[in-house]
Amino acid sequence: MSETIVDRLRVARELYDAVPLYDPKRTPVAIDLTDNTNLWGMPPRAEATLRAIPLARITRYPSLYAAELKAALADYVGTTPDQIVTGCGSDDVLDSALRAFADPGELVAATDPTFAMVPIFARMNALESVLISERADHTADLQALAATGARCIYVCSPNNPTGVTVPRTDLEWLLANSRATVIVDEAYIEFGGESAVPLTASHDRLLVVRTMSKAFGLAGLRIGYAIGAPALVAAVEKSRGPYKVNALAEQVALAALRNDLPWVREHIALAIANRDRLTLALREMGLAPVPSSANFVCVPVANAVAVGLAMRAHGVGVRPFPALPKLGDTLRISAGPWELMEECLRVLRLAMSEVRA
Ligand SMILES: *Cc1c(COP(=O)(O)O)cnc(C)c1O
Repeated sequence: MSETIVDRLRVARELYDAVPLYDPKRTPVAIDLTDNTNLWGMPPRAEATLRAIPLARITRYPSLYAAELKAALADYVGTTPDQIVTGCGSDDVLDSALRAFADPGELVAATDPTFAMVPIFARMNALESVLISERADHTADLQALAATGARCIYVCSPNNPTGVTVPRTDLEWLLANSRATVIVDEAYIEFGGESAVPLTASHDRLLVVRTMSKAFGLAGLRIGYAIGAPALVAAVEKSRGPYKVNALAEQVALAALRNDLPWVREHIALAIANRDRLTLALREMGLAPVPSSANFVCVPVANAVAVGLAMRAHGVGVRPFPALPKLGDTLRISAGPWELMEECLRVLRLAMSEVRA
């Protein structure tokens, strides 16, 4: 066979050769503080609903675009259903949004560090991406992001992995000073910071992405959504396609939104209290955690990868990030029940002394 025929027989697009398969190497560990899910569990009425779902639901397709869930989410965020799009996790919404907003070869700009999936989704959609280092105070460099001229700008507030927020007035500046479609990821907004949702009423280039994986404790059911102007949201919905929220997920999410908000709010308050207590305890160890508005704490620790492995050997999983811009080696620790935080602190001290030795 000639070279050209062999080339034509490639089984996948060439650009996929450079796309890594996302794998944060999450092996089972007794106390898992790696993924910022709700460590108190799932809300009670959501659980009761899941256990009681008639199996007949499973033989039929779910709703096309989760109309009932959109209505409940609109009540929760204070918008109308035509300003909401749902998806199979907010990952699905982000992926669909990038595909909807930018043509192949166009540029997506994001802060560095931020959510690791963004450059991966950009690549999967044949987009270029550029990461702009955060400022020394760990805030997003919005001037530099605007100056990229990118078709799409992604900011995360509170940011993963730092927990630092972007004020609403700064987002207004970004919208006024760039022509990009701006995606604001509010996966952790329930734990702190000003939501950008009110800006969607007056800005048709702003999509605010949210999830039920963190505060609502439903990560395994994969329920994400976004808020934006009706025309913007409609474009994301076309790019997303039908049936992406499965029948179980929609029923459980509805139960959580209609009946479990007091439980969710109570556990948000606990997560915030324990995050702040954890921050203080880390400071008392002589460390310098970044003040966080999320349900996790990012703390610079020398040799973070080795410390993270040593902690795992003692039964506590945290997420190491080697060599982050402006931070260096850090650990990201999810906030949960205080007994878990105490065990994490004990094992962190132990692991740091083992790695130093
Ligand atoms: C966890 C997380 C998500 C993913 O949420 P899913 O809805 O579970 O896909 C999105 N963005 C950020 C910043 C996250 O940390």
